[in-house]
Amino acid sequence: MRSLDYTPNGHSSFTCRLESGIGFVLTVHAGLASEEPEVTGDQRLTDNPALVENVLAFGKHEAEHRRLRNEERRASHRKQAAVHRKTAIEIAGLLDGLTSDTTAGRWCSGCLGQTDHQRVRVRGRTVPTYICTGCGSPTSPCLVPRCPHFANRELRDIALPRYCAEHRQEIPSFAKLDARLADISEYAQWLTFDKHNAARTTRLATVAMTAAVVVAPMAFVAAPAIGGVVGSLTGLSGAAATSHGLALLGGGSLAAGGLGMAGGTTVVTAMGASLGGALGAAVTSAYTSTDKSFRIELLRPGTGTPVLVANGFLTETTDGWGGWRRIVDDRYPDAPVYRVHWGAKELGDITALLAVGATKQATTNAAKVVAKKASKSAKIPGLAPLLFAADIATNPWTVAKARAGMTGAALAGIIARTDTPQFVLIGHSLGARVMATAAQTLGTVHGAPRIESVHLLGAAISVSKDWRVLSDAVSGRVWNYHSSNDPVLAYLYRTAELGKTAVGLGGFHSSQPQLRDRDVSKSVTAHSAYLERISLAR
Ligand SMILES: [Zn+2]
Ligand SMILES: [Zn+2]
Repeated sequence: MRSLDYTPNGHSSFTCRLESGIGFVLTVHAGLASEEPEVTGDQRLTDNPALVENVLAFGKHEAEHRRLRNEERRASHRKQAAVHRKTAIEIAGLLDGLTSDTTAGRWCSGCLGQTDHQRVRVRGRTVPTYICTGCGSPTSPCLVPRCPHFANRELRDIALPRYCAEHRQEIPSFAKLDARLADISEYAQWLTFDKHNAARTTRLATVAMTAAVVVAPMAFVAAPAIGGVVGSLTGLSGAAATSHGLALLGGGSLAAGGLGMAGGTTVVTAMGASLGGALGAAVTSAYTSTDKSFRIELLRPGTGTPVLVANGFLTETTDGWGGWRRIVDDRYPDAPVYRVHWGAKELGDITALLAVGATKQATTNAAKVVAKKASKSAKIPGLAPLLFAADIATNPWTVAKARAGMTGAALAGIIARTDTPQFVLIGHSLGARVMATAAQTLGTVHGAPRIESVHLLGAAISVSKDWRVLSDAVSGRVWNYHSSNDPVLAYLYRTAELGKTAVGLGGFHSSQPQLRDRDVSKSVTAHSAYLERISLAR
């Protein structure tokens, strides 16, 4: 009989023992810390990464459930443990029917690798079922006739055929996963989906997609996509894959307020070497495909290190140079210059929030009103009613910040696969957040820095204690132009971020070797004035 048992060994480790229906055994012994688990048993089971991963995840959640006192968190761990337990037992059940019939060298939608798929004999009405020898996930041939790729097989509704990642438009195409770009202008061609979205035309998929859009705005739909990609490496599918993937990445679940993933910060710590590979392609594709305004526009061809600029709110609407020409011409007269367009909807929402009047003075006043109302709000002291009327997933500030993080991570994914040795990144406001995230994400990749310099103008980024990754990401300098007379950063940012100070207001104050603060308080007295009033440092 199939079983999965949990045995605690004191307070710091546990043993999980799984027995399959026909008597194969898998034992996983692990500590609560992150050291490598000890895996023993029959090779058919120990060889399957998805099975081992699920048994391990079951054990860790079970241990947390037993250890914790907080009822809500205990219940959450219990639920997760149950999901992994069920998945492990189902995979073990499939492994009982493993045959030697192998389809070699086909793309797997679970691990995005070109792997062998081993046929499984299953009783009852089901799609043809295989096990990927790379990741151990159950797979089935893509539903599109003559498509050679393998889809993730549903564990719950086993008779439901599925489409491969290419036909679900989760990736541009399998062939492009490791593609290189001669220069950044090839990004659009690379991100184009090679296959039609077959999943969208089926009724079931449409219902599922509509539901997702209703629950969260677009910026948040992409975050589960990443969780899904990572989570499906462990044989999970759907919501279980998403929550496990986010947990693996350290993001927590969106429902529990785990916005690290959506904000791009978790991508920063998790991507590393995979940025230029398959996972980076999936992340970049998921993030950019949910932002219709995303594009990289060539402003001017030239020679030398390419310069990339990104706008934030209050300056985002204009096309072409959008106010950048003078300061870029002064500092980088010969360089090719590109503008990264992003988050038109999210930035527009923030600008609308601020644009109570037509003049800059009115904007200043509006920001002050927001801050004043906030401090007087009796029910929730310190929270601005305008910003916090909505819950966290629809709050325009949180959504725009998340979009900035995603854009930065996506841009890093594009830069990582170009053959151009280095770039200069320049950003204003939340555009500075885009560029800082891009630099930090690239900083997690080993090798020479891909960024020459970063210029941050009125940066909407909170003061942090650890700027090491950002500092290490550049071969030159990270210049931070900050103004204590910027009313938007002084009032709106502080209010939205619950009293945190933006580096664009007060500076980095960091001893990291590459970071430099430039106080421009005297010349910059409005959030939109940086582009007109400052010169870029050398
Ligand atoms: Zn696989
Ligand atoms: Zn397909």
